[in-house]
Amino acid sequence: MVTSIAEVRLHRRPVPLVRPFVTAVRTATTIDAMLVEVVDSDGRSGWGEAPTSWRVTGESPQSVTAAVEGPLRDALLGMPLEPAAPLESAAVASLALERAVVRNSAARMAVDCAVYDLAAQGAGVPLRGLLGASSDRVRTDMTLSAVTKREDIEQLATTAAEHMGTGFGVLKVKVGAGGDDVAAMRAVRHAVGPGITLRADANQGWTPAQAVDVIRAWEDAGLAVELVEQPVQRDDIDGLAFVTANVGTTVLADESVWTSRDAREVIGRHAADMINIKLAKTGGIREAIAVRDLALDADVSVIVGCMMESHVGIAAAAAVAASVDAASGAPTAHDLDAGLWLSASPVLGGIHYDADTVRMPDGPGLGILGLAG
Ligand SMILES: [Mg+2]
Repeated sequence: MVTSIAEVRLHRRPVPLVRPFVTAVRTATTIDAMLVEVVDSDGRSGWGEAPTSWRVTGESPQSVTAAVEGPLRDALLGMPLEPAAPLESAAVASLALERAVVRNSAARMAVDCAVYDLAAQGAGVPLRGLLGASSDRVRTDMTLSAVTKREDIEQLATTAAEHMGTGFGVLKVKVGAGGDDVAAMRAVRHAVGPGITLRADANQGWTPAQAVDVIRAWEDAGLAVELVEQPVQRDDIDGLAFVTANVGTTVLADESVWTSRDAREVIGRHAADMINIKLAKTGGIREAIAVRDLALDADVSVIVGCMMESHVGIAAAAAVAASVDAASGAPTAHDLDAGLWLSASPVLGGIHYDADTVRMPDGPGLGILGLAG
């Protein structure tokens, strides 16, 4: 039976982090999980989350509240969800959300993911199944905060070894924050040995020339860095292409690619070797799938990442990641560790972590049962 969107609710849940999260652009000790619950005319709830960061998405809890409780709710109320055509009806709703507000992609992500959750529930399948995946698990890397002072490098190496000891095979080191990135990466490689995959994320922190210098120094030192994420400023596509052309290491575009339009430009200009899809950039699942298909059709690999967000946002990202693994035929480690930084999940049910594995429940949709506590 066709249902329709009856209600859009917003819940704000502060969640402390287990340790401070430091990147080239910010330090965080707690997050405000901005959770959206979209209720259909049968009383089912779909869930989504809007990760907020002035420095990354340009959105705040206040802006998300204004967008969700204003134009996004207005656009969505009364929209039909057809159980026989769940993907199509979710896409129609998603397009209405995109047309309702310019930018505000994290706010749109929250509502869009909640609609896809509901659509999957209506069809009686897990969201990952709706997106073409059968596996109920994806792997994630673990992120290590950026080090800016030489005396902190030893601690970085110790932390890396600890994560290796708890089952992580892929570690992502935040660099580009002004510290000695060559010494830091050398110390991490020395601490974890040759069997661990190391990634680096500069979060736009280098100039193109600096990026080439540091990455070549890693290459010359034999540090076997698997990939380097977003070496230069997001709008500097020429700089990104310069780095990609001048190093042997794989370059992964993150902040430079928000939508399929950006992906088309980066792929067309050979500005990066890989693309990091994040739902907070694409504004949710419909556009994420568009970027996935565009990249994979061009033989450009994809990983799915996340912002500093909770298990609700990660649940949708994990479903997309599983669909990427299924479509590419080569499961990879994604970048979905944010939930491991939280002291607890703000919801009951949904995903859970088992060392480096994100496990998704077998029930319909995202399997989220409601707010915790
Ligand atoms: Mg990144």
